[in-house]
Amino acid sequence: MLSFPSKWTTSSAGKTVATNLALACFPCNVAKGSDLGSVMGSPRRLVPFHHPREDRWRDHLQLRGVRIAPLTEIGEVTVRLLGLNTKDRLLERRALAASGLYPSMEALAYIRELA
Ligand SMILES: [Zn+2]
Repeated sequence: MLSFPSKWTTSSAGKTVATNLALACFPCNVAKGSDLGSVMGSPRRLVPFHHPREDRWRDHLQLRGVRIAPLTEIGEVTVRLLGLNTKDRLLERRALAASGLYPSMEALAYIRELA
């Protein structure tokens, strides 16, 4: 399923201003809701989602084929709560990869931070 980008409020202050928003696909935006992260670990503590403006993707996540692998607790929370490796998402990525459309050049640039 292809989806349209939508806004993702990156701060709990929740103001709809440009510096407080990031683009997110519809499934991620719905999965994230108003959450900032999830409680995990021992002792249990709030682990934030990967922050698209403040964190480097490659520090927390790694693309392995069509699967997004977490490298850190931040990556783990992000992958698990946003459902980044659900069956439907993997099927979509496999279909896009078979057509040469995944990962996109823009996504690779973001992952590698060449943009
Ligand atoms: Zn997404």
